Amino acid sequence: MELDWKNLSFGYLKTDYNIRSYYRNGSWSEPELTSDETVSLHMAATCLHYGQEVFEGQKAFRGADGVIRIFRPEENAKRMQSSAAYLKMALPPVDLFVDMMKRVVKANERFVPPYGTGASLYIRPLLLGTSAQVGVNPSQEYLLLMFVTPVGPYYKEGFNPIKVMIDRDHDRAAPLGTGHVKVGGNYAASLTSGEIGHEKGYPCVLYLDAKEKKHIDECGGANFFGIRQGTYITPRSHSVLPSITNKSLMTLAEELGLKVEQRIVDYEELATFEEAGACGTAAVISPIGSIYDPSNDRTFVYGDGTKAGPNCEKLYHRLRAIQYGEEPDTYGWMVEVK
Ligand SMILES: *Cc1c(COP(=O)(O)O)cnc(C)c1O
Repeated sequence: MELDWKNLSFGYLKTDYNIRSYYRNGSWSEPELTSDETVSLHMAATCLHYGQEVFEGQKAFRGADGVIRIFRPEENAKRMQSSAAYLKMALPPVDLFVDMMKRVVKANERFVPPYGTGASLYIRPLLLGTSAQVGVNPSQEYLLLMFVTPVGPYYKEGFNPIKVMIDRDHDRAAPLGTGHVKVGGNYAASLTSGEIGHEKGYPCVLYLDAKEKKHIDECGGANFFGIRQGTYITPRSHSVLPSITNKSLMTLAEELGLKVEQRIVDYEELATFEEAGACGTAAVISPIGSIYDPSNDRTFVYGDGTKAGPNCEKLYHRLRAIQYGEEPDTYGWMVEVK
């Protein structure tokens, strides 16, 4: 397979197969590989009307030894279960989920980018409520589907910090709402502030807690962390999605000798961090150069605003090295695709 791996964008590129399992009459069907890129749905399916839809995101990597590995797929399986439970959907069993993920990666092996390009194979699982219903009730039937698409290296011009804007005029999730689960609706709700941010030149919007606007929640699709005096600090909040990248970075921060605190993070603490970052599957870490708050015209700058801090650098490289099989997988995070 010859693709311009280094210049792939984070878009959609057709691959050979996707994989599907259907939940009907209380059980999941034997997963089927298909080349059909479309989904046939009843127009009254609950996912279309009432947003009964949850998703996941993960990557497979071709390692230095040529072996293909997926990063912590069981964590995605468990998180999809918790998202599905909140939306009263059928829970895909962890084994079924991981097995489908391995199979869809294997079937699209020729799309897993070569080692050394910095590219990877993005995996997108979705779970949809499919029964025809007009009353507001959970669906009786579900479709679990996983497709893959190769994605290029996130940092084409180096590991450079991003500019972040605080949006106090919109919330992505309610205080006791769906912020902690990975539902499409949260993303729909973030599109307005995302566009405002982009128009003003900020690729990333940071949300404060929706109730009091006193604490830090997270970015639209990435968790937030700050580093101060040898401590990695990340918000604990009902409306923060538990990022698997963040969970892994907390482990690696301890390995590096940092202390780790997951707790309520006050807005004023933004002025005290030496480094800050946004973390998630897409980029691992986006170092944050500065955070602008238009409500009071304050700007919080990290370092000189143009270079990633030393701890962000170390954490990023350590996690990448584990994912690409360059350094020991000390914690057993990588799952081989055979
Ligand atoms: C998916 C997601 C993240 C990142 O989670 P990872 O498991 O690290 O990819 C962070 N915040 C939100 C809102 C998300 O939906």
